[in-house]
Amino acid sequence: MKVSIIGIGSVGAAVATAVKNTGLVHEIALYDRDNVRSYAAAEDLGHASAFSYDVKITAVNNYRGIRGSDIVVIAAGANQKPGETRTDLLNANAAVISDIVPRVMANVDSKNVTLVIVTNPLDVMVMLAQKISKLPPSRVIGTGTMLDSARLRAILSRQLSVSTQSINAYVLGEHGDSSMINWSSASIGAIDLNTFCRQAKISLPITTRNTIEHRVQNAAYEIIRGRGATWDGIAAAVADLLRCIINDERRILTVSTVAGAGTSALAMSLPRIVGRGGVITTLVPRMTAPEKSALRRSGKIIRKNFDSISG
Ligand code: NAD
Repeated sequence: MKVSIIGIGSVGAAVATAVKNTGLVHEIALYDRDNVRSYAAAEDLGHASAFSYDVKITAVNNYRGIRGSDIVVIAAGANQKPGETRTDLLNANAAVISDIVPRVMANVDSKNVTLVIVTNPLDVMVMLAQKISKLPPSRVIGTGTMLDSARLRAILSRQLSVSTQSINAYVLGEHGDSSMINWSSASIGAIDLNTFCRQAKISLPITTRNTIEHRVQNAAYEIIRGRGATWDGIAAAVADLLRCIINDERRILTVSTVAGAGTSALAMSLPRIVGRGGVITTLVPRMTAPEKSALRRSGKIIRKNFDSISG
């Protein structure tokens, strides 16, 4: 199993470490237009390999080096500076994806490869990468709201004093400011959230839920203010997604992938079964009318942003 990572900045380097630590890949190729950076990362990571799995880690200075990749992760491009939104990166990163995807496609087997998109604004970049690559939408997968859903589960875990592993709760829509929490499908174990709260004598009123939603939507801004960028959470999300694909685990993940065609094509996050073939099935969870309209509003924002770059 060969994985290539394009863009070896804060995120790409952390993704390389997390993917190496899955023990599921035999080779990782690192490409960045800044060769010095990718060579340094490959050296450092190669030394780390001596303490874990034997993985061949190489920095490649052109796209021929990614030949034979089963999965290509794209984490290149501008990141948010303090105060910037993901949408502020739209034009700069559309140019980056338009530069990278044709070069990737010229060096991979289009019948086999899966593209994993990390670059923001995520959903629009998934739409652009799918359009340029002409791959089936099921094999152009954005990490979407996997990270947002993990943030939600982490907050709920503290609030409810129950393991994140027992919390099924999804953030859906855009990986961005218009994401929404699908409270009505949330469950703890097999028990719906409201019933759980009643039985555990925990109060989760609408004001608390709104605060939680605000914290989830603003988590990246807080981390960027303190650390300059975010990388650990997204790296763990990518490694988890790759594990699910490589092992054909068929877990339900809130990834972003294109659905529909022509002017109604749209990528956003919904719960989807993911396995060897990429996205296998998209599921539509229970939603209240206000949740449905929040999801529709999120979709419209993504589509409008995509239209603005497609001219
Ligand atoms: P960074 O600035 O640290 O690294 C970006 C790297 O991309 C640089 O090394 C740069 O040389 C490289 N690059 C730029 N254009 C390139 C090109 N055309 N070809 C090859 N390499 C190129 O940024 P970062 O913090 O690693 O973030 C990378 C991207 O990931 C950003 O768009 C950021 O917003 C996004 N991100 C997404 C999520 C998510 O949940 N999807 C989370 C965090 C960050």
